[in-house]
Amino acid sequence: MANKIKIHVLHCGYIRVSEKVPFGNRIGLGTVGRELLAPEKERVTLPVCAYLIEHPKGLILVDTGWSREISPEGVYDPLAVEKVLPKPLAALFHPWVPKGAAIHEQLEERGLRAEDLDLVLLTHLDPDHVSGLKHVNRAKRIILPEDEYFWACRTVYRLRQPWSLWIDQPIERLYYRASAIGPNRWGISFFEDESVRMINVPGHTEGQAAVMVSNGPEYLESTKFALLAADAAYSPRNWRESITPGFGFNREGQLKSLRWIAETERKPGCVRVLCSHDPEVGQQTVEF
Ligand SMILES: [Zn+2]
Repeated sequence: MANKIKIHVLHCGYIRVSEKVPFGNRIGLGTVGRELLAPEKERVTLPVCAYLIEHPKGLILVDTGWSREISPEGVYDPLAVEKVLPKPLAALFHPWVPKGAAIHEQLEERGLRAEDLDLVLLTHLDPDHVSGLKHVNRAKRIILPEDEYFWACRTVYRLRQPWSLWIDQPIERLYYRASAIGPNRWGISFFEDESVRMINVPGHTEGQAAVMVSNGPEYLESTKFALLAADAAYSPRNWRESITPGFGFNREGQLKSLRWIAETERKPGCVRVLCSHDPEVGQQTVEF
């Protein structure tokens, strides 16, 4: 009997970024300075998603969106943003969180507390994914791939992933291990039936994880799954037309991850592939 899964797509704020961020293709870090100053007419508004998953094995949160302090009144507030992010990141993201949209506010609305979360899975340490961690740090377990932590402690990643948002948080770091699936065949499995897995999808950052959620074991033809692709792609257009998002750390890695996502989407059990910043995907619940 297949398990019933519900994935609630939550918009935990928004960013207004250069249009090169989702579809920069060959645009690399060399020109990132120009994109920080991108004029308003070259910017696009993208959601910042977190996912609340009702799974028979527990309640799981993937990523945490923006914290309330970057947007105290629920609107874009550059001074508040600069209290949390260094100036270049504040300029890149232009973030805000409408009232009621920060992760703890959305949990509360559903009658949930951080303590009710069995797992919080962090796909990577960019601020739009971990800024809200402080609101849910009483969860039972908070998991980050060791590879992501390793790189975040070094040089240019340090500029991009401010330590203040995560270094003191009670994060449990787990190593990727050999996996039957994934662009590098590296993954972290939770539960005996591997029904929740973090899969290494390198490129955007080296240690980044996608999250695969299944309703049964892989060998059963009836098993269905959804893939949360994090920032390996910003929209299906990235993998369907092989356009890499801009400013990845490793374009070869990005392309490899996009090819794997395209293959995964074609599998018969695939219900949905969701990206963290796809403007076409509104708040909704995916059930299977
Ligand atoms: Zn992101």
